[in-house]
Amino acid sequence: MNLMKVQDLVGRPLQNLRISVTDRCNLRCQYCMPEADYAWLPRTDILTFEEIDTLVDIFGELGVNKVRITGGEPLLRTDLPQLVALLAQKPVLQDLALTTNGVLLPDQVTALRKAGLLRLTVSLDTLRPERFKELTRFDNLSVVLRGLEMASKCGFDSVKVDTVVIKGTNDDELVPMLEHGRRLGVEVRFIEYMDVGGATRWSMQKVLSRQEMLNRLTNHYGPIAALDEDTSAPADRFVLPDGTIFGIISSTTQPFCQQCDRSRLTADGQWYRCLYAPTGTDLRGPLRAGISPDDLRGLIARIWGERNDRGAENRLNSADRSALIPIETLQGEPHLEMHTRGG
Ligand code: SAM
Ligand code: SF4
Ligand code: SF4
Repeated sequence: MNLMKVQDLVGRPLQNLRISVTDRCNLRCQYCMPEADYAWLPRTDILTFEEIDTLVDIFGELGVNKVRITGGEPLLRTDLPQLVALLAQKPVLQDLALTTNGVLLPDQVTALRKAGLLRLTVSLDTLRPERFKELTRFDNLSVVLRGLEMASKCGFDSVKVDTVVIKGTNDDELVPMLEHGRRLGVEVRFIEYMDVGGATRWSMQKVLSRQEMLNRLTNHYGPIAALDEDTSAPADRFVLPDGTIFGIISSTTQPFCQQCDRSRLTADGQWYRCLYAPTGTDLRGPLRAGISPDDLRGLIARIWGERNDRGAENRLNSADRSALIPIETLQGEPHLEMHTRGG
């Protein structure tokens, strides 16, 4: 295999690819899909597993060594373990992970692990059934908790819980979430509420900052130490006095664009160099038109070479900070949505 590692304009490598396998979802989280109706991607545009496989080979030749499968809700994609098995065979991939809301985990977690999935992240924002329903519109907490518990015993390299913290909604659950994670042996990561496309109810007043989270946890547990790690991972990790490790992803108040090696492929083959980028690059069109692997590699290398994106940092510096994209714009362009772009 030809390995040709590429870097963007400020020296950030192309290493981490998030692949959305569907834009559909079986929940309606307030911070991601709060509206009544959505425009969906045409089914004929959705990449087949073979097409994803081909693209991952090309990305692998350009430096991608970590893949995360996401969505929408990735477990809605039929036969997902088959895709995992295809990707798990690739020696170039050191990491193969998946992010899910957990609703379908009890049915699928064993098959996903068997297919070669290495790491799993379950998004879970509350341990209270009523609150879960208010936050997601579905009464599914117990099944998610069962899926998480099964996952914690399946032999993954790691299982994590990602919790979006929203002031006035679930910011009183920092300690219960950590305690639950500790009981299961899974690491909890708190995510600052982000003003990504789709978060039409976002406001700065609802963001609990990393510093506020640390203050509250210090009040409860005592001194918290930061782990000194040199990594491009989005979470900063901390350790409680009893040794419990947790993470904070502070994309809103302390973005980490400078180390960002992540890009995103939507279910219909649009490639985005940044979560906040207004436009992406169509890879499905050229692929279906029979572009040669060399030309496709050249296209991706060129686009990454021109990358100067630092979306979250730009948002931090913007004077008018309200929801990023108005509802009317989102309805006309589903690719601007977080659930399409793949979180
Ligand atoms: N449906 C799957 C899930 O929820 O895990 C995968 C896709 S979801 C878009 C990926 C991640 O994005 C989830 O962990 C979710 O909490 C996060 N997310 C969505 N909207 C967000 C927002 N406004 N702020 C912070 N994180 C958000
Ligand atoms: Fe919630 Fe994930 Fe679905 Fe968005 S894509 S509504 S975060 S479950
Ligand atoms: Fe990377 Fe863009 Fe997120 Fe910054 S905003 S960390 S550049 S994806």
